[in-house]
Amino acid sequence: MECKSILCVKHGPLIGLDRHAHNIARFLIYENIYDEELISPWFRIASGINKVHYVSDKYDNYVQWCGPAIDYENEKSKFHSKLIHALTFFNFVWGGFEAYIDTLDLPNCKKYRGEINKINYFLKEKYLNNHPIPEHYNKVVDTLKKMIILNPWYGNSEILFKPNVCEVEELLGLKIVYKIRNLFAHGAFTFSEPEGWNGTKPLDVEIISASSRIVLFTMQMLLYANNNLGFKVPQLHEDEEAGAKADKFIINLHKKSYRHC
Ligand SMILES: [Zn+2]
Repeated sequence: MECKSILCVKHGPLIGLDRHAHNIARFLIYENIYDEELISPWFRIASGINKVHYVSDKYDNYVQWCGPAIDYENEKSKFHSKLIHALTFFNFVWGGFEAYIDTLDLPNCKKYRGEINKINYFLKEKYLNNHPIPEHYNKVVDTLKKMIILNPWYGNSEILFKPNVCEVEELLGLKIVYKIRNLFAHGAFTFSEPEGWNGTKPLDVEIISASSRIVLFTMQMLLYANNNLGFKVPQLHEDEEAGAKADKFIINLHKKSYRHC
């Protein structure tokens, strides 16, 4: 049966996260104004990570003598492999995002300083009323909120999803993702137990994946507003003539329905 989750790559309208990152890299490689050696490799590497294989009890010799312990460690290895994969993907996408925003020269919001606040302020003041929001962005942010309500170790959703004076409700994704990212960037992240081994169903893989998606959406908006769009984006290693128009490509590159994906 078809599920209705916006995060489901099989049934939903969005291409896989790896292809989403790849399409950002494609744009950057052909965009040419910024040094491709600095920014695009982050997204290309993210797009090529197939899986992470993690073994939770690699050096725990006692586990092999105990049936329930084996079941538990197997489940944990599977779940944490997916979680580590999601975190690894996120970290590469975030690295590329930071490399890119380093090249921008945007004004501070008076009340709150810092690079991420500058971006949130730009989205509020310059982006919202002048440029298109990538389709499905809001659905992903809403879904993230619902998941955080169910997994409250990510923070109080009432507080997280409340814009301050430098932020705007319609484009709040980056603010929330930044808070989530700080949990594991600063060692404050909780590694959940696999489903069935604790009372609460862990949505960590989905939460981190939605966070990566939001960073990629934010890249699309920043590239749309801050870049020269008078060029074509071909497939990698394809003839330059056959590409998609950069302005259409950058705002649609995440959708299955867009033929240049
Ligand atoms: Zn599905």
